[in-house]
Amino acid sequence: MTISNSEWEIMRVVWTKSQTTSSEILAVLSQKTDWTASTIKTLLKRLVDKGYLTTTRRGKSFIYSELMSEEDAQNAQADELFDKFCQRKHGAIIRHLVDKTPMTLDDIDQLQALLLAKKASAVEEVACNCVPGQCRCHEHVEVRE
Ligand SMILES: [Zn+2]
Repeated sequence: MTISNSEWEIMRVVWTKSQTTSSEILAVLSQKTDWTASTIKTLLKRLVDKGYLTTTRRGKSFIYSELMSEEDAQNAQADELFDKFCQRKHGAIIRHLVDKTPMTLDDIDQLQALLLAKKASAVEEVACNCVPGQCRCHEHVEVRE
């Protein structure tokens, strides 16, 4: 199940604070949205229903905490983005990201080590994972009068 853009705004506050309340979330998000307390509560309920958050009662207030880690969510979002493109285009997207991402020497060293290890499992040709007609990989077999 995917996290919507609005839900993502909430999750970022929860990941930052570890444990938080709807009023604390409202205070943070009022810096960038005009959401009301009830908007926040609706989004929190949705996130609890989806299993991304858990809530416990403490006195009069409800405390929210994460059930999905930021790293897991980050990877799921990245996978979801890549699923929108033919697998053969993934290399080009990664090159674009590497080119535009500010990196430390340490980041670059790690990336180099990863690429070196990746050489051991390099494929002759990346397989296309698309339905014919949604990418150009199959065009030669799709030609019709
Ligand atoms: Zn393809």
